[in-house]
Amino acid sequence: MRLDLAGKAVLVTGAASGIGLACARAFLAEGAQVGLVDRESVPVLEGDVMAVRADVTDEPKLAAAIATVARRFGGLDVVVGCAGISGPVGTPLAETTVEDFASVLAVNVTGQFLLAKHARPWLSPGASVVFLASDSAFVCAPGMVPYCASKGAVVALTRALSVELDGVRVNCVCPSVVDTPMARGDLGPVLDDPAFPVQAAEDVAQHVLYLASARSRTVDGQAVLADFGVSAR
Ligand code: NAD
Repeated sequence: MRLDLAGKAVLVTGAASGIGLACARAFLAEGAQVGLVDRESVPVLEGDVMAVRADVTDEPKLAAAIATVARRFGGLDVVVGCAGISGPVGTPLAETTVEDFASVLAVNVTGQFLLAKHARPWLSPGASVVFLASDSAFVCAPGMVPYCASKGAVVALTRALSVELDGVRVNCVCPSVVDTPMARGDLGPVLDDPAFPVQAAEDVAQHVLYLASARSRTVDGQAVLADFGVSAR
């Protein structure tokens, strides 16, 4: 199945690690031009890439990073928001501080809002925006109040932006646990248990590529839940 992403101008936040890095690699394998934005330094990748350091919660720096990538590629066809943090996973409500809550929402929600806001002037007609939300928007575990709240907000933000932005599709992917440094840090060796349903960052990247491509041209304002069907049981 051809995705026709060759030559497309793509910007990925959170591209230094995990799902963002897998997305960057997958777009490059399709022949796209990829701008990598992260607050950390990104690995060296082969292909038409440029990396810009920026924190997605720092509006002027993020806007400048987006403009730098967009000027180099002559606009943006695809924007992927993968930058995110999990916050104090496993912390009960009584011990969750307002600072914990605010910091998770700042990266996971405000960061996506700022990405859309500052990418908008550079988007080509028919462009696609894809956010990483999570199955935690729908299926919650204890001790994850800030994270679950933030991912629910990303789903709502996706719908609001799909209505707001004419001629631009906005969707999000909601995976269950993905084997990345984030999940390893939060869950540890349980990821190696063969009975535990865990997916690879490359699995998620395939959904992102589909939503980025014209193959999904009728899909807009949607949350794609990729969780092995767990939430349907
Ligand atoms: P990760 O920690 O491997 O990668 C996240 C990247 O985001 C890192 O490179 C980090 O430096 C960057 N980042 C964090 N805060 C930033 C900021 N303020 N500004 C710029 N960059 C920042 O995590 P991951 O598992 O690849 O997660 C990517 C996205 O997928 C997140 O939004 C996460 O919530 C979501 N997600 C992850 C899982 C999972 O199980 N790993 C499941 C569902 C959804």
